[in-house]
Parts: sequence; C-alpha cells; structure tokens
Amino acid sequence: MSKLRFRVVETAFKKKPVAVAVPAERPSEYYAKYVFNRDKMFKYLSSKVYAKLVDVIDNGAQLDRSIADEVAAGMKKWAIEMGATHYTHWFHPLTEGTAEKHDAFIEHDGKGGVMEEFTGKLLVQQEPDASSFPNGGIRNTFEARGYSAWDPSSPAFIVDDTLCIPTIFIAYTGEALDYKAPLLKALRAVDKAAVDVCHYFNPDVKKVVAYLGWEQEYFLIDEGLYAARPDLLMTGRTLMGHDSAKNQQLEDHYFGAIPTRVAAFMKELEIEALKLGIPVKTRHNEVAPNQFELAPIFEECNLAVDHNMLIMAVMRKIARNHGFRILLHEKPFKGINGSGKHNNWSLGTDTGIPLHAPGKTPEDNLRFITFVVNTLMAVYRHNGLLKASIFSATNAHRLGANEAPPAIISSFLGKQLSQVLDHIEESTKDELISLSGKQGMKMDIPQIPELLIDNTDRNRTSPFAFTGNRFEFRAVGSEANCASAMIALNGAIAEQLKEFKHDVDELIEKGEPKISAILEVIRKCIKICKPIHFDGNGYSDEWKEEAKKRGLDCETSVPVIFDNYLKPESIKMFESLGIMTQKELEARNEVKWETYTKKIQIEARVLGDLAMNHIIPVATQYQTDLVDNVYKMKDLFPAEKSAKLSAKNLELIEEIADRTAFIKEHVDAMIEARKVANKIECEREKAIAYYDTIVPMMEEIRYHIDKLELIIDNQMWTLPKYRELLFIR
Ligand code: ADP
Ligand code: MG
Repeated sequence: MSKLRFRVVETAFKKKPVAVAVPAERPSEYYAKYVFNRDKMFKYLSSKVYAKLVDVIDNGAQLDRSIADEVAAGMKKWAIEMGATHYTHWFHPLTEGTAEKHDAFIEHDGKGGVMEEFTGKLLVQQEPDASSFPNGGIRNTFEARGYSAWDPSSPAFIVDDTLCIPTIFIAYTGEALDYKAPLLKALRAVDKAAVDVCHYFNPDVKKVVAYLGWEQEYFLIDEGLYAARPDLLMTGRTLMGHDSAKNQQLEDHYFGAIPTRVAAFMKELEIEALKLGIPVKTRHNEVAPNQFELAPIFEECNLAVDHNMLIMAVMRKIARNHGFRILLHEKPFKGINGSGKHNNWSLGTDTGIPLHAPGKTPEDNLRFITFVVNTLMAVYRHNGLLKASIFSATNAHRLGANEAPPAIISSFLGKQLSQVLDHIEESTKDELISLSGKQGMKMDIPQIPELLIDNTDRNRTSPFAFTGNRFEFRAVGSEANCASAMIALNGAIAEQLKEFKHDVDELIEKGEPKISAILEVIRKCIKICKPIHFDGNGYSDEWKEEAKKRGLDCETSVPVIFDNYLKPESIKMFESLGIMTQKELEARNEVKWETYTKKIQIEARVLGDLAMNHIIPVATQYQTDLVDNVYKMKDLFPAEKSAKLSAKNLELIEEIADRTAFIKEHVDAMIEARKVANKIECEREKAIAYYDTIVPMMEEIRYHIDKLELIIDNQMWTLPKYRELLFIR
C-alpha cells in the first residue's frame, strides 16, 4: 500500500506536458465553428425564416411553430455536414450539472432502411421523465411527465457527435424544474422594468439586456493522486489533510508563471471553448497553489449562463487529456483559498448605453446614479435572498465558515461614488426646487460630470462590489449554476425599478418636474439602503458585529439561510413579476434541503470509512511498531536507561491511542446521529439536524486525523498529503 502511494506521487511528478494540436486557422476563423449561430442560420435557412427567428431572438417575439420544421431541417443539414449523428435537448435541471439524452437522427424510411430525420416537433419539444430529476415533490402531486422546450435565444451547438439544443425544462403542469425557465422570466422582467425607467432619459430605448461575465476559478490535481483520495473522488473535497508547511503564504502563485503542463491544458481548453463560441479571454494563476482562473468576455446573461455550464463540462473532459482532474468544489482544501465564480453583472440598452457606467453629461450621470442606487436598494431589500441564492453545502465552506469571509451581503462602492451619493443625499429639496432643468442638474450635482469611476479602488473582501462599469457578485460558488444568483438578482432589480418608476411618476403627477422627482426618490433610496453600503474590510470580526446592528442577514446555518426564499417579500417579488410561484419556490427549497442533507451524508460516510479503513489501521500498525521498539529497548538496556530512551515513543504511543480512541468513538457517534437525523421527515428539519450535529462532528474527527498525519510514519500513510497534491506539475 505504502509503495503504491509513492509510485503514484513519483509518476505525478514525472509527467510531461501533452502536445496540443493548434489549428492552422486563427481564433477568429475557428470561433463558433460548432455553433448554429447567425452566420449558419443565414446560410441554412430561407431569408423569411431567418428574419422570423432573429425577431424571436432579438425582440422576444412569439415563436411561430410553423417555422420550426424549416429551422430543424437547416440545423440537421448543418449538423450532419459537421459529422453529427445524434441530437439532444440540453437543459439545466436542479442539480449542479446539465442533462442530455441523445437520440440518433435515424428514422425508418418505409423501404426497409433508415434515413436521417429531425423535425420541427423534435426541435421544439420533448418529454423527458420529470420524476427522475430533483423536483421537490412536484412529481408526487402530479404526473411524472415533464417537457423540455427549445430556447431559440441560446444557439444550438455540437459536442462530439451530438447536436445540443438548449431548452427549458418544466413539469407537465407548467412548474419550472430547471434554472433556465425562471432565468428567462427574470431577464424579461428586468428588461421591461429597466426600459420604463430608461424612458425618463432616452425615449428610444426598446430593450435592456442584462450582461454577465463570469470568472471561473478551479484547481487542477494530478489524476493519479486524485484516484488515491477517495474523499476527492466522491465529495470533490479533501475531508482530511494537514496543512502543507508551504502553501500560499509567500503569495507567489497569484499571476505567477503558468506551469507548462497546466498551460498545455489551458491551450486546448481555450481552443475547444472558442470553437463552441465561448469568448474566453483571460487565464491566470489564482492565489492558492494549483488554483487557476478562466474568464470570457461578458455576454448576454442567458447565453453566459449556458456557456458557463458548457465550459465546466469541457474543462472536466480536457483536464483528463492532460492527466489532470479538475476540482470545481468551492473549498477542496482546508487552510488555503477556496474557489468562486465572480459574476460581473450590468445592464445595457439596445441603443448601446451601459447603464452602470458613468457618462459624460449630467443627464447621463443622473441615469447612471439612478441605476446604481436602484441596484443598491434591490440588494439591500433582498440581501438575505441573494445570500440564499448562492449558498450550498459546498459554498458554505467558503462563506461563513471558520477561515472564510462572513456570510453577509454588502456592497462596496469606492470613495468617489460614495462621495457622490453623500452629496446627493445632503443636497436639500429647496436647492433643487430653485434649480430647474438641465442647468439645475449641473449645479446640483457638480461632481457627477466626467466621473472616472473605474479608477476606484478594489475591494476583494466585498461580496457585491462596484467595479467601475458593473457590479461584481463575488460570493457565487465555483461549482454553482450562475442562474441561481442571476434569477434572484435580476428579479430583485426588476421589482425595485418598477417601484422606483411608480414613486417618480407619482411625484410627476403632483406637478414636480421630472428631474427633481427622480432626484427626490433617489435621495430617499440612498437613505434607506445605507446599511448595505460597506467599503471596509468585509473579513473582519468588527464587520460581523456592525452588520448585525445594521439589520443585515447574518445567519450562518445553511438550511436556515434557504428560508429566505419563502419569506413573504421574496414570494411577493417572484410572484408579482411572474418569475416563480410560491409552489415552485417551495418545491425548490425542498430540493435545496434534500441536496444539502445528501451531500453532508455522503461526506460523513466517506469520512467514517476513511477513518476506519485507512487512518486507524495505519495508526495502529505504527503504534505496534513503536510498542515493539519499547520492548526491545528494555531487552537491550538497563531499566532506567531504556525508560529514558523510550520516553518519546511512549508519548507517541499514548497520543496515537488517545486520538484513535477519539476517532473511533466519534465515528460511531456520528453514525448514531445520522440515524436520528434520517428519521426526521421534514426536509428542512432534517437538513438542520445535519448542519447542527453532523457537520461539527466531522470537524472534530478531522482534527484528530490531521494530528495523526503529523506523527505517523510517512511511508505508511496511505493518502496523498496536501504537500503532494498541491505542488504537482
Ligand atoms: P478581474 O480583474 O475582476 O479579475 P477579469 O478580467 O478576470 O477581471 O474578469 C472580469 C469579467 O467582467 C470579464 O468577464 C469581463 O468581460 C466582465 N465585464 C467587463 N465589463 C462588464 C460589464 N459592463 N458588464 C458585465 N461584465 C463585464
Ligand atoms: Mg479575475
């Protein structure tokens, strides 16, 4: 066993970079080669159908089923030319991954043979069995049937031999069982609400688009070492492992030279991503050893979400070509940084105006301030919900745990923007009334013109930071589907913008000039949402205290955090905008609690097995060697001398005995605690029991295992250690 471990470590160190076949064309030439994008639509569809489809995509026009047959025929022709033999509806069920069931294009031709076939009916809609996907009880009440339905706004693409058609996934009765359906509804809501507010400034705006630029962090581990760690294999994180003497303390990894084996992986990944139309742009070493980041250019939110789901799958695949396994878990290793997926988010109009960026004229900047303040208001009002939208069993290790930033949502604005908001807040109504029109604007908020806000400072500790022309929702987990955060955020903004418009209109109706009405409501909002604004160190203990005083959601229990989805203000927001019904929210929470319990249950089982099958046997074996040595010393030396010489070993023998006894007792106790928790019927209560009792037990057991790792003979220790896992190239 011990020999095997060393062979694995040795081979991991000896691996050479894999040569990557670089295409002869330039990236701009092979970009989106595997995507049925506008170019291909234009080529493979009639001009009439092309125009109709573009109208659906750009303007949200109703999809006319009569065009489906021709679109399907065009797609099929292109896909077959590209070598595809199968097609699938590709959707995002309420798991962390995507779902696909491949069907071949073949159909009987009526002459005893087969022919390639793909009709509009198959493109538009299919019927996967909903009961086998997480559905939070919806399938118990209704039929198991579910539908997947084509989302034309995200283009079809080919992976290997399969044409993948992005779809939503809903129950027979219409409830969404996926992330995409509510996301599309939230995007629609924010579009409508933002267009209405834009009309105060620019009457010709017809559409507002939410943009998302995600930054995907990840770890790479040599696959041989990964295979020797059952905890990584089954839970995605190390459930034990002592800190490596050197980890990230020298701050030498962030932006460091990319190791050649990793660079080869990145190269191949980027080529594949570009062929799939994912505009990947940035790559760099992250803070922790073996941690890296990949970021594309931002895109329309729905497409960006699909691209992120797709890239995670592609990353997993390509990593294996290079003898790596990718870890997307938020906290694979204790004691070093975890991984996130910063969601850079902003709104922009169809007329090309970025709504979260300052402009050149006072009018532009009033619009900018309007959108910033409404964003802050929305984040303030729904800070608990936004937190719930990014929380999971795995992300909990990265937020709110011992060595992680607190689980509190706050927003960093930077000095310049903070000053502008202070100024607006302090300026009096009289001042405003005495001024009128554009002139007045200029005088009332003199700082606003020509802001260079992107010169603002950075604050890496803020979960929702303003970064010059966008907000960066940094608390999103590396493994998560961004849609969860984007549904909550865009929904909250839509609701707030609607109320803002309502309040401004009310003042205008009372005779107040437009600009001063807008300023008055902004001023009111700035006062209300103050508690969310925090530019200080979000990781400090003082902030935890301060946030509590400000009334922000400071809950740390994961299952309790999910309650935020069912608070009256959340239900009201989602229902009033038509994003999700109370029933859908309840079903989704059932899924969240159930998933939480299952994840902790799996971790607890794996930890128990490893403790009993790996740790205790090895510790006992080493202890026996030590005991043997003590007896032999007795034979060799006079009593007094041998006692002196064996003192250290006796201490070790005792320590091993104490720690193994503790581990054994607690593994047993943990099994008993699980039995008790498993009997609880209510999913929420069960998840709470797992959080309150099992999670702390796992920590205690781990503590003793990690201490044993320090004293047991290295040759005997069966699991690769942190220092081996983290520095392999
Ligand atoms: P950082 O310095 O924050 O690590 P990166 O370059 O890694 O920046 O990633 C920033 C992400 O933000 C990219 O995906 C980028 O395209 C995106 N982004 C830039 N401007 C906007 C914007 N206005 N709206 C949304 N995303 C944006
Ligand atoms: Mg970055």
